[in-house]
Amino acid sequence: MSAVVAKAAEAPETNPAQKLLEVRDLVMHFRVGHGLFGPPGLVRAVDGVSFSLARGETLGLVGESGCGKTTTGRCVLQLENPTAGEVIFEGRNLVGMEQAQLRKLRNRIQVIFQDPYSSLNPRMTVGQIIAEPIAVHGLERDPSAREERVRGLLVRVGLLPQHAHRYPHELSGGQRQRVGVARALAMQPSLIICDEPVSALDVSIQAQIINLLDELQADFGLSYLFVAHDLAVVRHISDRIAVMYLGKIVELASRRDLYEAPAHPYTRALLSAVPIPDPAMEATRERQVLTGEVPSPLNPPSGCVFHPRCPLAIERCKREAPQLRAVGSAHQAACHLV
Ligand code: SF4
Repeated sequence: MSAVVAKAAEAPETNPAQKLLEVRDLVMHFRVGHGLFGPPGLVRAVDGVSFSLARGETLGLVGESGCGKTTTGRCVLQLENPTAGEVIFEGRNLVGMEQAQLRKLRNRIQVIFQDPYSSLNPRMTVGQIIAEPIAVHGLERDPSAREERVRGLLVRVGLLPQHAHRYPHELSGGQRQRVGVARALAMQPSLIICDEPVSALDVSIQAQIINLLDELQADFGLSYLFVAHDLAVVRHISDRIAVMYLGKIVELASRRDLYEAPAHPYTRALLSAVPIPDPAMEATRERQVLTGEVPSPLNPPSGCVFHPRCPLAIERCKREAPQLRAVGSAHQAACHLV
């Protein structure tokens, strides 16, 4: 990721006047195990998550597999109907909204998936893939103007107009992800949910896609909710970062605070797994290895859900769940020891 151009300035906290998205007390529980498949239970995939996102801002949402970050993104997209909570987008609560209204607003939220290959229809040309949402949503009714628009989008994401005639299998992984970006841009969104968009790509290609997303954000004022399992990836693109563990946000901070002064033991453990490019520093730094697996959200631990893996856990941690609270001006953490 060394070729990635890092953002120059730290972002302030979300200015209420510029707020694009606000997620309030989001809960997504799934009932499982009915009938033949064992005793019923409740998977607490997302358990009281709140955050906001300003126009033109990127919020990284990070955690290990099963922490609820992808489900949170799906709730924002309204692909899941949350158990409780609100998703306020452009001033309107999407939860429980009537379908016709929801469709209109949802067009302004697009998604870029981890695996561009499986998300692109193999029987359609690249041109057809990008033109389809433009036609379906009536953004450009004239076919030749639509083709022109597709060509413009291809060039904007670093491809050639001729790529419009190719099929997804004829492209490299990086090129396919550029098609995914072009398809999202075609809808003129204000928010893009980037669901691990570079995890399946080679490191050199990852940097190119991150830089492309950065340029597009500057050009179009886009906001990104950038979901990733790795703090190395989100560092370069995020203004603020939320770290999730077992359905909850355990730390939320500006990029500088999170990387320079992480407060939560889980964040510190995740950070110690991020490689440092300087071999001398890498050899001397203290590692904090996370032991054990993420517990099942079907049966989360008592008190602080991180306590079975936390090297600093005290008795109180087993009994009492810590609340997310301010530990700095734009920095919150949920730990009894901070
Ligand atoms: Fe560790 Fe306790 Fe803090 Fe949880 S509350 S992170 S168990 S020290």
